[in-house]
Amino acid sequence: MGGGIGDRQIGCENACVRIFCMATRRLYYDDAYLQNFDARVLSCLPAEPVQGASGMQPAWEVLLDQTAFYPSSGGQPNDLGLLGEAAVLDVRDEGDEIAHIVDREVATGGVKGCVNWPRRFDHMQQHTGQHLLSAMFQERFGLPTVSFHLGVEICTIDLQGGEPTRDQLIGAQRAANKVIFEDRPVTVRYGTREQLARLGVRKEVEREGLLRAIEIEAADLQPCGGTHVKSTGQIGMILVRGCSKVRQDWRVEFVCGRRAEQVATEDFERERVLMGSLGCALHELPHAVDRLAAERDANFKSLRAALQQLATAWAAQLASAAPSGANGVRVAAVLLQGAHPELLQPLATEIAKNERTVALLVLEESGQLVFAQHPAAGKDLGAVLKSVLATHPGKGGGSKDFVRAKLADAGSSAAALELAKSLIAA
Ligand SMILES: [Zn+2]
Repeated sequence: MGGGIGDRQIGCENACVRIFCMATRRLYYDDAYLQNFDARVLSCLPAEPVQGASGMQPAWEVLLDQTAFYPSSGGQPNDLGLLGEAAVLDVRDEGDEIAHIVDREVATGGVKGCVNWPRRFDHMQQHTGQHLLSAMFQERFGLPTVSFHLGVEICTIDLQGGEPTRDQLIGAQRAANKVIFEDRPVTVRYGTREQLARLGVRKEVEREGLLRAIEIEAADLQPCGGTHVKSTGQIGMILVRGCSKVRQDWRVEFVCGRRAEQVATEDFERERVLMGSLGCALHELPHAVDRLAAERDANFKSLRAALQQLATAWAAQLASAAPSGANGVRVAAVLLQGAHPELLQPLATEIAKNERTVALLVLEESGQLVFAQHPAAGKDLGAVLKSVLATHPGKGGGSKDFVRAKLADAGSSAAALELAKSLIAA
């Protein structure tokens, strides 16, 4: 995406002067496979420090007469590499010029440039893959691409229109991969806006002058200033990885080429681990996970039933053993150790079913607490909890007859219980 090429504009005297003075010749426009090149250093000036691997580092800005380094633009990130001995840290498009940000001073005169090829080729695979995938979404399903981002791990296009269905996502991926298997030529075309429009360019651009467009034979033609592979076979493979809503549009995640191989390998690695832990074959994974979830739900249900039975039996014991205080209010205060947290509530509720009885339960290890009372006990457990939490901070709440909370520090469980007991007795 993106597609103006100001430095190719001809016919204007001022523009020509600028070309002769400063404009950087963009070698990647006509040869995206150029990795090593010779250039003349026109200037090298100190630049703002840049973020390096170990903090901020000094930097210089180099202008060349020509370059194979691609600057960040049109959704494609910049190249890295070497300019003589200097490491290229960033490449910026500044209109007519391309600024190379490097880690040391470069002498004026001749210099050799070397583009970090694995990084660049990866960007070419992703970028041509994007043109192709966007073309398939448009052609097959009438879903136009409104923006493109090439990230460090994942690439995205934003589609306009309704939510793409699963069939559309897979359909566009399949159609794009079919064009990849046919290994169709990818070529650079130049023309005016009108000429490109006549050729059926996918996206109209507003810019005048000579424009650059990328053509995938019998599949796509769109304005673009980026670097592309020379035939679709070099994209290798496109995998759609996800789709989510972003503002008005639908963001489709995808990877191409080496990245597709990498994510597919990682997927298999994860599946292999899951097959091992679930003891099943690959195609049985979804069923095995469903079965596990069903078992978990059934286990949880029977645990709840068992805890309720335990609560009923234990509550009877605790309530009858609870000492009777002033006004005949009985208080069952227990610091529970090693109990299931889900036992607290049914146990407290069962105890509070006994006439004028208060249950004060605290789980020692976690600081979870539940207080409950028979309404005739006539205490205000909400107020009791408030006082307890004022001394032993935690989060919780409830009503006059039932409260639950969790202390921030489980170490104060015993002290909190003692405080609650004394407040009830008061
Ligand atoms: Zn493009």
